[in-house]
Amino acid sequence: MFTFRGIQQYFQLLASNQATCEEAVQYFLHKITDNTHLNAFLEIYAEEALERARQLDTKRKAGVPVGKLHGVVVGIKDVICYKGHKVSAASKILEGFTSIYNATAVERLLAEDAIIIGRQNCDEFAMGSSNENSAFGNVLNAKDNSRVPGGSSGGSAVSVQAGLCMVSLGSDTGGSVRQPADFCGIIGLKPTYGRVSRYGLIAYASSFDQIGIFASSVEDAATVLEVIAGQDDYDSTSSHKPVMPYLQQNTAPAKKIAYFKEALSHPGLDPEIKAQTESFLQKLTTEGYDVQPIDFEYLDYIVSTYYILTTAEASSNLSRFDGVKYGHRSAKNAPTLADFYKNNRSEGFGKEVKRRILLGTFVLSAGYFDAYFTKAQQVRKLLLDKTTAIFKDFDAIISPTVPTPAFKIGEKSNDPIEMFLADIYTVFANLVGIPAISLPLFTHSNGMNFGIQVMTSHFDEENLLHLSKDFMRLRISE
Ligand code: GLN
Repeated sequence: MFTFRGIQQYFQLLASNQATCEEAVQYFLHKITDNTHLNAFLEIYAEEALERARQLDTKRKAGVPVGKLHGVVVGIKDVICYKGHKVSAASKILEGFTSIYNATAVERLLAEDAIIIGRQNCDEFAMGSSNENSAFGNVLNAKDNSRVPGGSSGGSAVSVQAGLCMVSLGSDTGGSVRQPADFCGIIGLKPTYGRVSRYGLIAYASSFDQIGIFASSVEDAATVLEVIAGQDDYDSTSSHKPVMPYLQQNTAPAKKIAYFKEALSHPGLDPEIKAQTESFLQKLTTEGYDVQPIDFEYLDYIVSTYYILTTAEASSNLSRFDGVKYGHRSAKNAPTLADFYKNNRSEGFGKEVKRRILLGTFVLSAGYFDAYFTKAQQVRKLLLDKTTAIFKDFDAIISPTVPTPAFKIGEKSNDPIEMFLADIYTVFANLVGIPAISLPLFTHSNGMNFGIQVMTSHFDEENLLHLSKDFMRLRISE
């Protein structure tokens, strides 16, 4: 019987004829069927995935050189375009819409022989921290079905957590890969802004959005990143910097680590998460790391700054969904064009998306622009300066990924401020554009896993992944 224990081991099984891509796809299709209650997938491409697997098997057996992700079974978040397949951003406004091109990340996966098994549930337009904002129902945390998986890439995280695919692609605008990875006990990697092309990723907040990776090991995340990263003519914000073979060199990770004092003394931080993070920092010291506390006086401002800037960008990005070019078109009678738009958008968008469009329109309005949007941009600049200064002295910053473990479904859905605060540690990396990862190092006394977040400077994914590997080793050796 096929089992999945990492991409490299899978490649060995294929090479030694102990497994086939078809068996792998069959295995995951069975697991998906057994776990439909989790609501992780919105659509499965069963026949197509099997057919592609068979083709890959034939190709490999004929001795044709194989791609870097040969037969790797991937799930994609429902905000990433896959030509000829539906994409809805888990919204009614896009229900029934079919992608007319591939996202660059998808194009690169396919070019390296990956198999896409389906599209995954998420918060509508990637707005949320619990997956409760999907127009197609909640996703359940596989470890405790009464708890949320995190969001917005909840379906992508649960798919890896429950072993429904090998890896998933999600998107991370303010933590949507790292936070659900933390809640589901898996790896969640957000690359540097500009490392992975955003072409074909449905935009939420364009100066924050990055495609990220969910995996069950650091090595698998690195393998996928090497394929999807790199310059792309279709995204002018993608970087020309060369893509490194991230984990090939056996270099020891850099050892100077900072942590924000304010992050660990924050009143919203769960006492057990605090204690376990502190003891991990202690352990790093005994392992030869130089771990230093530093001041971070901006912690209380970053969530507001993030929500002002992202809602402003979202209000502009989402104005294209008007029911004219595409999207939901209301059957209601509309005497004027304004009524027509209003009906389409009122019916098509969910509550959270509407809240953010309204907020964003407000912070951009003539009378309030300077008070909110300009101020928030100034804070963003301060944060960037601070980040540059920190990375002059340190190689990495560590913090908890999320202040609480996975909460119960419904626990925070009526209090948007509470929900926004779940992002307090993750939004920083998006505000300044640095790479960040959540590593599943701990278990809470309530039985849920939680992680630690590691951040390095812009385009230093190599060091980030080396550190991650070493930190995972420390967990294993516990
Ligand atoms: N939870 C954050 C938000 O709701 C992050 C979302 C994301 O990264 N896409 O905006």
